[in-house]
Amino acid sequence: MILNVAKLPEGDSEFSLHDRPNYFDLSGDEFTLGGPVEFACRVRKMERRVIVRGTVRAAFQLPCCRCLEAYRHEVTAELIADFLPASQSAQEEVHELEQAELNCHTYRHDEVDLRQVVRDHLAIEIPMQPLCREGCAGLCPKCGVNRNLETCTCVPDSVDPRLAILQRFKTPQS
Ligand SMILES: [Zn+2]
Ligand SMILES: [Zn+2]
Repeated sequence: MILNVAKLPEGDSEFSLHDRPNYFDLSGDEFTLGGPVEFACRVRKMERRVIVRGTVRAAFQLPCCRCLEAYRHEVTAELIADFLPASQSAQEEVHELEQAELNCHTYRHDEVDLRQVVRDHLAIEIPMQPLCREGCAGLCPKCGVNRNLETCTCVPDSVDPRLAILQRFKTPQS
């Protein structure tokens, strides 16, 4: 996902880019990418300035927060990023705040590297409480069976609602 600015035609062009997951530094403890990252984008080159907008598609392997099973979580993220050569943007440091607002980035050696921007947009899409399916039945708190797959005969304790709030914090995180 690197665009060579020297080879980009002036004006608009379209690209369908994809990279293997290992190009993206997203290998946290709790998730991995489960396949290639795809980025369908429209690139506008105006002299040294390059504006990229498009749609990123990827899939994470995430542990469900209820049943703890790993599942495939597909994400789509809209992305827009404005790139200027590093030297040029340094001269315009006064406008730093303005650039941050415009989602401005820099590039060097004629290479617009989209991986960091794509990575950041994907990271935002990771859910705080991943769920393998809507209404996942989770694990039985008594015998631990995955209630999506098995039924058990455990009788649920009647839980004081105030304690039920505390129980939510007992969900294992990793
Ligand atoms: Zn689940
Ligand atoms: Zn049970």
